[in-house]
Amino acid sequence: MIIIDSPQQLIKVLAKMPRPLCLVPTMGALHEGHIALIRKARQAVGECGTVIVSIFVNPIQFDKEDDLAKYPRALESDVVICEKAGAEIIFTPEVVTMYESDSSITISENRLSTLLCGASRPGHFNGVCTVVMKLFMLSRADIAIFGKKDFQQLAVIKRMVRNLNIPIEIIGHETIREHDGLAMSSRNTRLTQDHRTDSSIIYRSLNAAAELLKLGERISEPILLAARKYLLGSQYVKIDYLEIVDAENLERVAIIRKPSILAVAVFYDNVRLIDHVELKP
Ligand code: AMP
Repeated sequence: MIIIDSPQQLIKVLAKMPRPLCLVPTMGALHEGHIALIRKARQAVGECGTVIVSIFVNPIQFDKEDDLAKYPRALESDVVICEKAGAEIIFTPEVVTMYESDSSITISENRLSTLLCGASRPGHFNGVCTVVMKLFMLSRADIAIFGKKDFQQLAVIKRMVRNLNIPIEIIGHETIREHDGLAMSSRNTRLTQDHRTDSSIIYRSLNAAAELLKLGERISEPILLAARKYLLGSQYVKIDYLEIVDAENLERVAIIRKPSILAVAVFYDNVRLIDHVELKP
């Protein structure tokens, strides 16, 4: 396992590594969801290719200082996990080497990032695009893997790659869940025991509402109402948003005619969790 913290060193080392090269961008505190992405990367490049995992808690994508300060970090165990899952290289830069003091150029996305999570997290997706672009440029990866759990992030990255003609293939990976259905997330460790037990309600509520679609309902409103009612069964959950959107352009849909997404963001105190299910009419 090669661990690199300098961008210049990364460029040098990667120049000698066998292609294809697959990048898995993460913020660390790795769990089964990340492991699945790394395994998928290994599959995508085969035995002979190279898998690189980046571990970088990107400050410019955090809109709340407190969230950044409390973001879990676990580099030692992350290294072991990456090695076991089949990565060759870990890139774990310091903030000062990723963002030079005179940094004045960023990527901005102006449509998808005004919706859903973007509406409640101003600047978040611009921060994501900027760091992901830097990782693409530094790694010159042929392929990059992202989780569908963060479906809006995946949509934004795909749009960036298409709009800016970036020569890279983007692969989305299914969401990995805990036994009770909660989508795995590094933030789950910040839930209290009571909140963790309660949090299975998120996925259950989405599935219960999605059942209506299977029974023939095509109007969004009753499906949203059903999900909201189910979530009200929790004494802790505060809903940030609950929406049905088009799977491609993320615009709200009133009638479900095309593949859509029932998406939710909730707060347990100050821990914000997101989840979604696909609605296929
Ligand atoms: P993060 O470290 O939270 O920034 O996530 C790094 C990558 O792992 C992103 O592409 C996420 O979408 C993906 N990811 C995080 N949690 C999961 C999960 N439960 N299932 C699948 N992918 C995930």
